[in-house]
Amino acid sequence: MVEKETLLLAHKMLPAIIQHSHDAIITKDIEGIITDWNPAAEKMFQYTAEEAIGKNIALIIPSELMEEEAAILEKIRSGEAPGHFETIRYRKDKSRIEVSVNISPLKNEDNIVIGASTIIRDISGQNDNERKQALLAAIVDSSDDAIVSKNLDGIILTWNRGAENIFEYNASEAIGKHISLIIPPEKMDEEAEIIASIKRGERVNHIETVRLSKSGRPIHVSVTISPIEDSSGKIIGASKVARDITEKVRIEQEREYLTNQLQLLNNYKDDFMAMASHELKTPITVINANLQVLKELITGSDLTEFVVKSLSQVKKLNHLINDLFDVSKLQKGILQFEKQVLNYNTFLRNTVESFQSAYSKRDISLDNLEEDVFIYADELRIEQVISNLLMNAIKYSPTNTKIWISCSLEGASVKTVVRDQGIGLAPEEFEKIFERFYRVKSSSYTYSGSGIGLYISSEIVKRHNGRIWVESNKNGSTFYFTLPLAEKAIAELV
Ligand code: ADP
Repeated sequence: MVEKETLLLAHKMLPAIIQHSHDAIITKDIEGIITDWNPAAEKMFQYTAEEAIGKNIALIIPSELMEEEAAILEKIRSGEAPGHFETIRYRKDKSRIEVSVNISPLKNEDNIVIGASTIIRDISGQNDNERKQALLAAIVDSSDDAIVSKNLDGIILTWNRGAENIFEYNASEAIGKHISLIIPPEKMDEEAEIIASIKRGERVNHIETVRLSKSGRPIHVSVTISPIEDSSGKIIGASKVARDITEKVRIEQEREYLTNQLQLLNNYKDDFMAMASHELKTPITVINANLQVLKELITGSDLTEFVVKSLSQVKKLNHLINDLFDVSKLQKGILQFEKQVLNYNTFLRNTVESFQSAYSKRDISLDNLEEDVFIYADELRIEQVISNLLMNAIKYSPTNTKIWISCSLEGASVKTVVRDQGIGLAPEEFEKIFERFYRVKSSSYTYSGSGIGLYISSEIVKRHNGRIWVESNKNGSTFYFTLPLAEKAIAELV
C-alpha cells in the first residue's frame, strides 16, 4: 500500500524533476525522433525545445558516430537497455561536447517499446581535470627528484619513484610511516623547525641537509618544502622536493681538500725558499769576502781576471738570493718598509749616476725634474725598483741603443719613465710580466733571468700606493711607475 503511494508521488513529481535536472533528459521514439527536451538539454545543446522536438536525434550526433546510434536504436527496439557509455555530441554551433549517456527503453502500458529516455551529463570539464591530474601524476612519477608529501604530524602520504630511488624505500614501505624514517637523529631538530615554518604557512627554500637511505647511507640533499592547503585554505600538510646533491657535495669536498693540499705545498715551497735563501746568504758572503782578499793579494797577476769574473758571478748569485728572500717575505706578508721623506730629485740623480758609471758602455740619459719634489718612501726599495727597470732595459736591448730615464709631476704623484730601444713586448704580455716567476717564452732562451724582478718591483710600488705599467712595441719598451708625493702619502696615513 505504502509502496503504491510512494510510486504515485514519484510519478507526480517526475515532470518537476525533469524540469530542474542538471542533466539533459531527452526522449525519442523508436525511429529516433525527439519527443521531449528538458531545459538542461536546451542549455547543453543550445537548441530550444521547440527547435529540437520533432527532429531526428541525429541533430546532436556527429556523422562519424551515426553507426553507434543505429546500433543503439536497434537495441531499444528489441527492448534491451543500451545502458551507460561515454561519447561525443554536437552543440548547435557545431562545437563538440564530451558526454556520459544513459539510455533505457520506454514502454507503454502493454509493455511495447515506444522509444527511449536518454539522460546526458556533460563530462568535458571533468575529463580536463582528470587529464590534468593524470599529467601531474606522470610528472611527479617521472621526476628524478624525490617528491614526498606528509601531513602536519609528519606522516608520509605520498612517495614518488624519485624518492624510491634516492632513499631506497619503496612507496608501500614509506607511506604511512613518520618522516623520521629518513632523518638522521642529529637532524630531528631541523625537522621540528621545518614543520613549525610550514604551520605558519611559510615555504622553506633550498636548504642543504643530510638524509638517510634505507641502507643507512647519508644522502646530501637540497630540499624545498611548501605548505599544502585544503580547499578552504587550511594548511593540512607539506610537500617536499629533495634533490640528491651527494655527488656535488663530494666534488666540493674534494676541491676543498685539494685546495688545502695546494696551499700546504705552497707554504712548504715558501718555507723552503726562505730557508734556502737564508742559508745561502752566509756562505756567499764568506766567498765574496775571501775573493776580495784574494783579488788584493794577487793584484797585477794574470790570475786577477779569474777572480774578477768569480766576483761578478758571486754578485749575481747574491742578487738572486736577495730576490728570492724578498719573494718569500712578500708571500708571507712580512716585507718591511722603512719609509721616510725623501728628496726624489736628488735620489734619482744619484741612483742614475751610479748606474751610468757602472755601465759606462751604455748610453743612459736622465731627464730629471727642475725643482725638488719629496716622496715618503723606503729609499732602498725604490732604488731596487729603478735598478730592476734599468737592468732590464740594459739586458733586453742591444748595446748600441739608448736608454732614457725621465721624471715628471702628475697631479699629486711623481711619474718615472724608463724607455729602451730593445726587443719589445707583445700586448698580451703587458700584465703577465708583473706576475711572480713569469718570463716571456720567446726571449727566455736568449736572456737569463728568474722572472722575479718585475714582480718585486710592482709589489714595492703597490705598497707605496703607486702604479706600475708598461707600453711596448717592436721598437722598444717604456716602463712607468708613479709614487704619491710625500704630502699625499702622509695625509693618507692619517
Ligand atoms: P727576468 O728579467 O729576470 O726574467 P723580470 O721580472 O725582471 O724577470 O722580467 C719579467 C719578463 O719581462 C722578462 O723575462 C722579460 O721577458 C720581460 N721584460 C722585462 N723587461 C723588459 C724589457 N725592458 N724589454 C723587453 N722585455 C722585458
